Amino acid sequence: MPIRLAVPNEIVPGERRIALDPVVAKKMIEMGVDVRMQKGAAASALFSDDKFEGVTLIDSAEELYKDADMIFKVQPPTLDELNMMPDGCVIASFMAPHLNQDLTQRMCEKKITSLAMELVPRITRAQSMDALSSQASISGYKGVLMGADRAAVFFPMLTTAAGTIRPAKVLIIGAGVAGLQAIATAKRLGAVVSAYDVRAATKEQCESLGAKFVDTGVSADGEGGYARELTDEEKQQQQEVLDKHICMSDVIVTTAAIPGRPSPKIISAAVVANMKVGAVIIDLASEGGGNCELTKPGETVDFEGRVVIHGPLNVPSQVPVHASEMYAKNLFNLVSPFIKEGELELDWEDEVIANTALTHAGEIKSERYKNSGEQ
Ligand code: NAD
Repeated sequence: MPIRLAVPNEIVPGERRIALDPVVAKKMIEMGVDVRMQKGAAASALFSDDKFEGVTLIDSAEELYKDADMIFKVQPPTLDELNMMPDGCVIASFMAPHLNQDLTQRMCEKKITSLAMELVPRITRAQSMDALSSQASISGYKGVLMGADRAAVFFPMLTTAAGTIRPAKVLIIGAGVAGLQAIATAKRLGAVVSAYDVRAATKEQCESLGAKFVDTGVSADGEGGYARELTDEEKQQQQEVLDKHICMSDVIVTTAAIPGRPSPKIISAAVVANMKVGAVIIDLASEGGGNCELTKPGETVDFEGRVVIHGPLNVPSQVPVHASEMYAKNLFNLVSPFIKEGELELDWEDEVIANTALTHAGEIKSERYKNSGEQ
């Protein structure tokens, strides 16, 4: 019997993405999967139900979940949602495991196999499944557009009849996936871009995209390509050089994160007070508390009518069509190698599956999660 894939409506307020798009739905059906979606679930991502040819539309989440073999979701399931799911089903979704220990526990009790998209290993073979990257890239792009929209100046240099306009100075802090996309986007808009990351390895990447790298003389290269936490002395040295650049910038997009920990505070209130009048900070690290001391996650702070600090949450959701298409493709690339004639058989010898599984057969499977001490 073919497996039943269920794709529900996302219930977190403001979430506009969906874990399926018409292209992935078609491919799944061609593989023999019985694809089911909650009626109207894709409307927030601007896909109407009639675009999902061959997909069975189900009225309620309860009815959808009750006999599902596999579930695709964007946001971590709530306890209520988990309770509607059959024991032993497979769910692929973001899980934010360090914030949701109760969910992990419940998934163990229900012997649910959960594939947590945050845990997809950052190896070359898994790039097409890497939802953190696909969504971060959208944030970087959109973050720059938010900055351009709020800026008091043009981004490009303009030669006009009324004189020549100097290009905006844009500073990108944190040059991971979001930061690199932010650099590329700000360059396309014609700004003069500089960038900074604690990992020295990013210098070449920033420069290859046309940004000038801010060299503070501090490197925080850590394990697995991630940043380590800096010592107090290193932080001070980093800060002094960075502050100068911050105060010269018209728009700053911050993306600096340390996985599983609060975002480092890189822009102090005192430095904001010395920034250019009309400057804008777009703090894409708001989910983790933000990189600016004055950031209020989910809000826009107007600092004395001089500097605007915007702390958007769930930015990929603001580009719901492409964010959903990319995310659905990531899910498809993760599970489709294990679907044969409509049946799903995960291979536990497979490096990607073994690392991405958070729970399986009543146990926490992820070594990374267990070792992180966050459970
Ligand atoms: P992230 O979202 O965890 O962090 C964003 C950036 O902030 C990182 O570059 C980090 O070094 C930087 N940062 C942290 N603290 C900082 C501070 N105090 N000041 C300035 N910058 C700071 O990063 P990410 O986008 O998830 O990428 C993490 C790593 O994974 C990168 O090395 C990236 O190249 C790598 N990666 C590899 C693959 C792959 O090979 N398949 C895919 C995606 C990402």
